[in-house]
This record gives sequence, C-alpha cells and structure tokens, in this order.
Amino acid sequence: MKMNKLFIIGSVLLIALGACEHTKKTRDGKLKVATTTGMIYDAVINIGGNQVVAQALMGPGVDPHLYKATQGDLKKLQDADLILYNGLHLEGKMGEVFEKLGRIKAVKAVSSHIEKDRFRSSELYPGTYDPHIWFDVSLWKEAVTQVHHTLVSLDSINQPIYDENAFRYLKSLDSLHLAVKNSIATIPPNQRILITAHDAFGYFGEAYDIEVKGLQGISTLSEPGLKDVADLVNMIVENKIKAVFIETSVSKKAINAVVEGCKQNGHDVQIGGSLYSDAMGAFGQFEGTYIGMVHTNVETIVSALK
Ligand SMILES: [Zn+2]
Repeated sequence: MKMNKLFIIGSVLLIALGACEHTKKTRDGKLKVATTTGMIYDAVINIGGNQVVAQALMGPGVDPHLYKATQGDLKKLQDADLILYNGLHLEGKMGEVFEKLGRIKAVKAVSSHIEKDRFRSSELYPGTYDPHIWFDVSLWKEAVTQVHHTLVSLDSINQPIYDENAFRYLKSLDSLHLAVKNSIATIPPNQRILITAHDAFGYFGEAYDIEVKGLQGISTLSEPGLKDVADLVNMIVENKIKAVFIETSVSKKAINAVVEGCKQNGHDVQIGGSLYSDAMGAFGQFEGTYIGMVHTNVETIVSALK
C-alpha cells in the first residue's frame, strides 16, 4: 500500500517535471518555435513578435516535398517548445519525425483545423489534398489563425500581445488578398493562363480567377512527355499566350522544348520570369516575407501576361 502511494506520488512528480520540460523557453522567457517552411516561420514571427524565437528548417529554394531532416534539424526540433508544419503531406518525408516528437512536445500542422471542403484534391497523389494552401491568401489566413491559437495555448500570459498582432496581421492579409484579385483582373481574360513548372498554383488559380497549367508531366521529356509538350504548344499557340514561367525546381529542357515548339508554330512565347512556389526568397528581403513573396509573384505574372 505504502509502496503504491509512493509510486503514485513519484509518477505525479515525474509527470509534473515532464510538463515543465514541454515548454523550456529561452532564458529570457521566449517561446522557442521551429517551423518547416519559411511561410510558416513568417506567420510565427508576425504573430509572436518579440515573445518568440523562431527558426525555419527549409530556406530559400528548398523543395519541401523531398526534404529530409538533417542531424542539425533534429537538434533544432528537439530544442523547440513548439514545432509547426504545413501538413497535407507537404513535408512527405518528415511524417515519422513529427509523430515521434509529437509524443513529447507540441507539434501542430497549420492546416489541421481548416475545413476539408476548402481544400483542393491533389492531382499528384490521389486520395489526398493539395498542400499548397499559401497561394490563396484567404485560405492562408486560416493557417495564420491556427498559429495564433497555438501560441496562445502554450503561452497564455502573452495572449494580449498575440491577439493584437494577429488582428493587425490578418487585416494586412485581407488587403493583400484584395490587391492580388485586382492585379490579376487587369490581365485580359483570354490571356489569363498561368503556365508553371509544377502544380503549386491551383489554389492561386481558383482564388484569383486565372487558369493554371502545370508543366510537370513533361519535365522528363520521355515519350508521353513529348505528347504533353505538343499539347501544351498547341494550347499556347491557339490562345496566343505571351509567357510561361519557371520555378527553381523545373528542368530548363522542358521549358525550352515548349518555347522552341511554339516558335516552330510561328508563335514567340517568352519566359515570363521565375516564380516563388514552395519556398520564399532570402530572409531579410521583401520576397523573403510571405506578403513580399505573393506581391513579387503577382508582379511577375501580371507584367508578363498583360
Ligand atoms: Zn509543391
């Protein structure tokens, strides 16, 4: 009996100690947050402000679909009070890491509380959803709200600060959403076709009324790839599309085949520039923020297609 009692007290103590372990915070009391993508990192610093110390695992030009956690990442993840990731299988190779760490600390997908009917089903992976939710600003607001609620749940003392930051930042996202809508609307409707490297822009197309075609199927230039090139060339020539866009991840070969094919059919299509898709620009620059990344993309698209 006595042993049992001791055991229970011991267990309670252990649990209490464990709970303290969960929010280590920095020495000056700041919450330590690790994120996968730069977009989530940007949401965290906008909502968390001076109350958090955040770091992103995936920098500029990194493809989250293929990303594997390095030893250095594991250290950062173990060190954090909170881990935030996109979810919807964007970080396809990190599921096991999140599952393991989720048993000992707060690990949250920023997409986890969004109503399923707001997601597009994924063309790449049947039965799953398109993870590129940051391309519809109104949808990304839901992810930002999730970041807000998670910070409050772990650090309720600073709730007034988080609430105020969230109110202000969500308002600037409303303005951004409207600005993107208005900009894309200046492209003549018959020119409003966005041809890009992979299928990241589906939400963008739906939210801002621009047709999106992915080059992904032709990136290897295999036999069926050549037919895709021909179909795409016909589409571009027929619609007199002015430009196609590259992303850092696309093979130049595929783009050049399309441009060349159009030329042979008497139509000059330009490479309209490079778009930020699954990673933002360099931290510290305008395109290294979420708002800056969206603005920069829209400027590139509008000036090439208008
Ligand atoms: Zn992607």
